[in-house]
Amino acid sequence: MPTDLSAVLAAIDARRPDAEELLADLVRINSVNPEFVGAVRDEVIGGETRCNQVLAERFEQAGLELHWIAEDPERRNLVGHRAGAGGGRSLALNGHVDTVPPVEPDDWVNGSPWNAEVRDGRLYGIGSTDMKAAVSAMWLAAQALEDTGAALNGDLQLHSVVGEETMQHELGTSACIEAGFRTDAAVVCEPTSLPQPLTVSPVAAGNWYFRVRLHGKSTHCGNRAEAIRPGGPGDAIGVNALEKGVKVIGWLQDLETQWGMTKSHPYFMPGFFSILPGVFYSDPGLDIPFYFANRAEIAYSLWYPPDENRDEIVHQVEDHVLGHARHDPWLREHQPEFEWINNWPPANTPWDEPIVQAMVRGHEQANDTTLADPSPQSPVAFGAASDASFYEAAGVPAVVSGPGELQLAHCKNESVALDEMTAAAKGLAACAWGWCDGS
Ligand SMILES: [Zn+2]
Repeated sequence: MPTDLSAVLAAIDARRPDAEELLADLVRINSVNPEFVGAVRDEVIGGETRCNQVLAERFEQAGLELHWIAEDPERRNLVGHRAGAGGGRSLALNGHVDTVPPVEPDDWVNGSPWNAEVRDGRLYGIGSTDMKAAVSAMWLAAQALEDTGAALNGDLQLHSVVGEETMQHELGTSACIEAGFRTDAAVVCEPTSLPQPLTVSPVAAGNWYFRVRLHGKSTHCGNRAEAIRPGGPGDAIGVNALEKGVKVIGWLQDLETQWGMTKSHPYFMPGFFSILPGVFYSDPGLDIPFYFANRAEIAYSLWYPPDENRDEIVHQVEDHVLGHARHDPWLREHQPEFEWINNWPPANTPWDEPIVQAMVRGHEQANDTTLADPSPQSPVAFGAASDASFYEAAGVPAVVSGPGELQLAHCKNESVALDEMTAAAKGLAACAWGWCDGS
């Protein structure tokens, strides 16, 4: 029976309670990424797979053919495949089922991070925004296509993956692509409702995670005056690595200010490219302040523009710090050491790329809204890293769009607006309808 898009959108409204139930079921499953810092693998392993088992029942009900992809047998990805009638472009909708470990788990408004609870139209619980509402919305879109007997010419695939929070794309998204689930385009349904209401984000900054290490010279705290007294022996008596670390933090704040003025991109808010000192650790080998600290370590997360080279960014940071260090007699001889731990590549799809336009038009059509073209006044960049980078790396054009406010991701009392989950599902269905040629 031929159908039209408005019937599919109506079916999404009709199925809304089912999608909310699915979201609650997924939130109740502890699917903390077993490789995340602070997580104990034996305690959380299997949660990702259990989420995908719950989804498998729903995918089957939506008429999707199931495929399990498991590079790590204890962490299984699920692909739901809806074969097209032929002649149309194929599309993947992607979401991850792993979450980060909860912060302050004993202090959530809903009693526990895994106690899914609806208050004032929002569902509270860990992973609600990042990104179990998105996975539920993906299913809702597919189910509505099934309910209305809609036909798409191109294939539609749902990629429900593991390992995103630790960039283990080779176990998750990239494993699915390499297993043969390569489509003409992908929508990664991470939360895109800030800084604007639910939008479409074709770009994301590159991220570097790095550490700076400093060495000092320990001595008794009674020598403080000798070490800092003008005309005194200074460094010969002791060097406090903690205060050298504070200097490095200040120097990189200066560089960050420079970047705020010199680095820009038309899809990002001004000043987005930044250098965050997230962990500062320093001590004299004992957790007491009666010695000069002989070691300091600062861990950073920095964002750089998608069109800049990652190695060039490394040079900018190191040159800036080492340039200042040359004026410090101790640091000249005992240079700060850098460890470049992880690079998450940027995403960089142009606004006029067909899949971006298909998602924009889908969202506009389904939700009766208009998205402004990107500019620094209406930025469209995704404010975090996502698997869109790895579709792009595999040659699949990708865009990010999905329910939830990024500012709530990874936070205590994470929640998602249920209206937005439905709105996102409608946008995804309309995108698939346009891209895969529905009728
Ligand atoms: Zn996420």
